[in-house]
Amino acid sequence: MSDTTPKPKRPRGRAHLLAGKCIACGARCESSCPVNCISMNDAGEPVIQEDKCIGCVKCVKVCPAQALEMSFSPAELAILAELDKSGSVTPEEPDEEAADLARLQARYRGVWVFIEQAEGEPAKVSWELLGKGRELAGKLGVELCALVIGHQVEPLCQEAFRYGATTAYLVDGPLYRNYRTQPYLEACHHLIMQYKPEVVLMGATSMGRDLAGAVATRVGTGLTADCTGLDIDDKRNLMQTRPAFGGNIMATIMCDKYRPQMATVRPHVMQMPKQQPGATGKIIRCDFTIPEESVLVKVLEILKDSDSGQHIDIGGAEFIVSGGRGLMGPENFDILKELADELGGVVGGSRSAVDAGWLGHDRQVGQTGKTVRPKIYIACGISGAIQHLVGMQDSDLVIAINRDKDAPIFEVAHYGIVGDLFQVVPALTRKIRALKQKKR
Ligand SMILES: Cc1cc2nc3c(=O)[nH]c(=O)nc-3n(C[C@H](O)[C@H](O)[C@H](O)COP(=O)(O)OP(=O)(O)OC[C@H]3O[C@@H](n4cnc5c(N)ncnc54)[C@H](O)[C@@H]3O)c2cc1C
Ligand code: SF4
Ligand code: SF4
Repeated sequence: MSDTTPKPKRPRGRAHLLAGKCIACGARCESSCPVNCISMNDAGEPVIQEDKCIGCVKCVKVCPAQALEMSFSPAELAILAELDKSGSVTPEEPDEEAADLARLQARYRGVWVFIEQAEGEPAKVSWELLGKGRELAGKLGVELCALVIGHQVEPLCQEAFRYGATTAYLVDGPLYRNYRTQPYLEACHHLIMQYKPEVVLMGATSMGRDLAGAVATRVGTGLTADCTGLDIDDKRNLMQTRPAFGGNIMATIMCDKYRPQMATVRPHVMQMPKQQPGATGKIIRCDFTIPEESVLVKVLEILKDSDSGQHIDIGGAEFIVSGGRGLMGPENFDILKELADELGGVVGGSRSAVDAGWLGHDRQVGQTGKTVRPKIYIACGISGAIQHLVGMQDSDLVIAINRDKDAPIFEVAHYGIVGDLFQVVPALTRKIRALKQKKR
C-alpha cells in the first residue's frame, strides 16, 4: 500500500541581516521586497520585520554583499531535515518577476552616446563619453554606437568612428537644424524603441540635461544626472556614481528593472580618448521626422555668448590657479593671476570666493560650478570640501597651499605646501620667472 500522508510543505524561512556585512548599497533589498517588510535605518542598512516576511528570497538574491540570508525556526529545521532524509525534492517555485526582468534585459543591447552639436560643431563631452562608452561596451561585449541628430551632420558620424563608435544612427534633416526638445525627443524615442540600446549616455550640458530628462520620461526608464563614475556590475547593470546628499557621500545608483539605463556626465569628468585615424563604421540612416507645424517652439534668432573677453572657460584650461576664502579679499587674487599668467593658465576659485563676489560664477570649481581636469591645479587657501573636490580631483597634478596641515585638500594633493599663501604664491611666481629667464 502506498503512503498517502501528505508531505509537509518545505518551509521558506525568514530573511535576516548578517551583522557587519551590509555595504549600504542603496536599499536594493528594500525595493525588491514584495510585501514591504524591509525599511532602512539611518546607516542605510535594512531593518526586516521578520513576522511579515514571506520567505520569497528576493532580497537575498539582489544583495550585492551577501549580507542577507534565510533563517529557520527549530521546528522548520526539523521539517527540512525530515524532507532531506526522505529524499523528497520540492520543486523551486518559478520566479515569474525575475524571468520577466531577464527577458526585458535580453531585448536591450548596445551602448549609445548622444553626439551633441550646435551648427555642426560637436560638443567635446560627446567624445569623452565615447571614450567611457568604449570601456562599458567592452565589458558588456556589445557595440558602441553614436546617435547623431542634426542637419547636414553626417561628418560627425565619421568623427565618432575615430573616437571608438562602430555604428552611428543618423537622423538628418532641416527639422533638426537647431536644437528643440520636441523633435529631438521624438527622434530619440523612435530610435530607442526600434533598436533598444542597453545604455544611453548624454553630456550634462544645457542640451543634454534637457533632452535626457525628456527621453527618460518618454521611454519610461530611470536617469542618473551628473555622474562622476560609470561601470558595469556582474549582472550587466550600469553602476552610476554621483555625489548625493549635498555632496557628502558618493552614491552608486542602479536602474536594474528598466531599460535603457540612462546617465548624463558633465564635460571634463571622463578622459578624452585618443582618435584612431582612419577608423570607420556603419551608418544607419533613419528618415524619421514630424511635421514642422507640430513643433511648438520656433527658433527666431541665436544670440551667441558676448565676446567681451571676460568669459573664461576654466573647464578647458590646462593650468588653473584657484583661490578660496584664504585669499581674504578680491584684491589679493592679483597674486594668483600673476602665477597663472606665468604658467599660461587661468584663475579659478571655490564657491566661498564666488559667493563673496571675489570672482565670477564662471570661475567656480566644484559640484555647483565647473568640473575641471587641467594638467596642473594649484589650490590656494582652499580647505578641500567634498563639493570642491568633486570638481577638480581628477586633475593630472594637484598642488595645495594651505596653512592648516590637516586641511582635507592635502588628501587629494600630489604636492602639499603647508604655509602662508601670501608668501608661497609670490615665491613660486618668482621661481618660475627666474627659470624661464634662465632658459632664454
Ligand atoms: C550643495 C552645495 C554645493 C556646493 N558646491 C560647491 C562648489 O561647487 N565649489 C566649492 O568650492 N564649494 C562648494 N560648496 C561649498 C563647500 O562646502 C565649502 O564651503 C567651500 O568649498 C569652502 O570654500 P573654501 O575652501 O574657499 O573656504 P574654507 O573652507 O573657509 O577654507 C579656507 C581655507 O583657507 C586656508 N587659509 C586661510 N588663510 C590662509 C593663508 N594665508 N594661507 C594659506 N591658507 C590659508 C584655511 O586653512 C582654510 O583651509 C557647496 C556646498 C553645498 C552645500
Ligand atoms: S525574503 Fe522576501 S519577503 Fe522576506 S524580507 Fe526578503 S524580500 Fe521581503
Ligand atoms: S541589498 Fe544588501 S548591501 Fe544593499 S542595503 Fe540591503 S543588505 Fe545592505
